Amino acid sequence: DAAMYRAKRAGGGHATFQRQEDERITLHVERLTALHRAIERDELRLYFQPKVHAESHAVVAHEALLRWIRPSGIVSPLDFIPLAETSGLIVPIGRWVLRQAVATLISQRLQKVCVNVSALEIRQPDFVDHLRWILRESGIKPQQVCLELTESSMLEPRFAATLQEVHALGVQTALDDFGSGYSSLTALANLPIQMVKIDRSFTSGIGQDTDAGKRALEVVRGIVTLVTALGLPTVAEGIETAEQAELLLKAGCTYLQGYLFGRPEPFA
Ligand code: C2E
Ligand code: MG
Ligand code: MG
Ligand code: MG
Repeated sequence: DAAMYRAKRAGGGHATFQRQEDERITLHVERLTALHRAIERDELRLYFQPKVHAESHAVVAHEALLRWIRPSGIVSPLDFIPLAETSGLIVPIGRWVLRQAVATLISQRLQKVCVNVSALEIRQPDFVDHLRWILRESGIKPQQVCLELTESSMLEPRFAATLQEVHALGVQTALDDFGSGYSSLTALANLPIQMVKIDRSFTSGIGQDTDAGKRALEVVRGIVTLVTALGLPTVAEGIETAEQAELLLKAGCTYLQGYLFGRPEPFA
């Protein structure tokens, strides 16, 4: 039907713009329907990636990273989180992620679990209530959970107040992807966050014996110095080589995360 409709419109002399617009909407609806079904069919899974201490390489936490397991293959969150966010589906998905992450923390006896949280989730008036409920129901220590937030969350009107409530519970927060956004420095100075994750775009160039590689290292050194001066620990994301790990340790990074120490993987 859809194909016939499209063909009709294509052949009917309508403006190309209208046809493209129709196709865009059709595709959007198809993708949205598929994502709805993913939830119903229980196709979402959490993978976990270790975060290690920069000096000892001891595992201190695991970050939960969402995957959509389809018959055709595994879909990256980069390919469906944006749709989940614009459609609002991220709210029920995010609740599932938090519950599932805590369940895994318990079953795998993890020290700590880090969960990515979107701006729209933070905006929900009952976000903190839900978090409190999960902590109470599971009986875990609030210190065993860390929420990873991005700079886009800071545009939320009640962001600072919500963060204060989260901290009052004893749950930590980290600023994710630091440096990839637009308001980084302001955010750092004003926000009650407890850890800063330096974006992979900075760390990926490090360790190359080129001008660009040296500059990347200098930028990361600058970030680490700044964040450390504020009394906060840093996590360098995307560490793939032993040389990068060594350079970032020397730069003063507190924790490291990346394929060198473990790829995101499901338990069991
Ligand atoms: P993120 O939170 O910054 O996560 C880090 C991303 O870098 C992950 O991609 C991870 O697999 C990847 N990564 C880790 N180490 C390395 C490395 O050494 N090299 C390279 N090339 N990549 C590495 P992933 O799993 O595709 O997730 C992408 C983004 O999707 C996340 O970025 C996060 O913003 C979002 N996301 C993932 N899971 C969730 C979730 O449950 N809820 C929400 N709201 N967002 C999520
Ligand atoms: Mg993250
Ligand atoms: Mg990140
Ligand atoms: Mg990211």
